[in-house]
Amino acid sequence: MARHNGRGWHGRVLAAALGVTAVATAASVWTAQADPSGGGDAAGAAGRPAASAAGTPGAQGGGAAKVAVTIAHASDRGERGVNITIDDGPDPTWTPQVLQVLREYGVKATFCMVGPQAKAHPDLVKAVVAAGHRLCDHTVSHDTAMDHKSEAYQSQQILDAEGMITEASGGVRPMYYRAPGGAFTPYSRSLAASHGMRPLGWNVDSKDFERPGAAAIVATVKQEIANGPTVLFHDAGGDRSQTVAALREVLPWLKQQGYSFGFPVR
Ligand SMILES: [Zn+2]
Repeated sequence: MARHNGRGWHGRVLAAALGVTAVATAASVWTAQADPSGGGDAAGAAGRPAASAAGTPGAQGGGAAKVAVTIAHASDRGERGVNITIDDGPDPTWTPQVLQVLREYGVKATFCMVGPQAKAHPDLVKAVVAAGHRLCDHTVSHDTAMDHKSEAYQSQQILDAEGMITEASGGVRPMYYRAPGGAFTPYSRSLAASHGMRPLGWNVDSKDFERPGAAAIVATVKQEIANGPTVLFHDAGGDRSQTVAALREVLPWLKQQGYSFGFPVR
C-alpha cells in the first residue's frame, strides 16, 4: 500500500464495508489502474524514481518539466479533495453541457481528450481551458490494447495526440496522460512524464459510459468515493445525457459531504 503514497484515503476500509460488488469493483480498479506492477511494470511499484525516459526527443516548444512516472490518483486538495475527470471528448453536443454543469457548481475538472476530436473541435478545447479546467492526453485512437503494441506505436499515439491537443488549445499543453482503459506501460508512462504529462489513473469508475441511468451513476459515485479521490466520467462516445444529469446531483452532494474539488497531483 505504500506505493499509493500520499493517498491518505481510508477508503479501503470503508470499501470493505460496501459489499461484495463494490469491493470487487474497487479491487479490479486498483489491480488495473493503481499499480501496473502486475504487468511487469516494476517502476510503478518502486515509488517515484522520477521520469527516467532518458533521451526522449525534445518535448515540444519550451519543453515541459518532467513529472513523476507513477500513476497519480491523489488530489492536490488533500484528503477531502475530489478530482472530477471527463474522458473521450471533446464532443460538440455533450462537452458544452458538461462545462455548463461544472460552471454552475464552480467545479474545475480534468478533461482527457482524444487527439482527433480535439483537432476537430478546437473551440471546445479552448473553452475548456478558458474555464480553468486542465487538459489530459487520451491518445489518438483510444486503443485499449496499446499496452501490447510496440513502443513506436505507443509513442505515436501519445505524442501525436499531445500535439493535436496543444495546437487546438492554442498552446496550452496537456498536464496528464491517461491511457485508454488504463493500458499503461512503463515505457508510455516514462514518455508521458518526460513531456510533462503525469500518468493519471482513477479510483471511482462512475460507469456512466454504460448508461445505467443517472440514478445508478450517482449511486455508484456515492458508494465508491471512499475508494479514492479521482472519479471517471465521459463527455463523448454516445448519448451522455445521463452523465450530465448525474453530475448535477453528484457535484452538490460531494460539496455537502465536505469534499472540495481539485486536480490530480503532478
Ligand atoms: Zn477513454
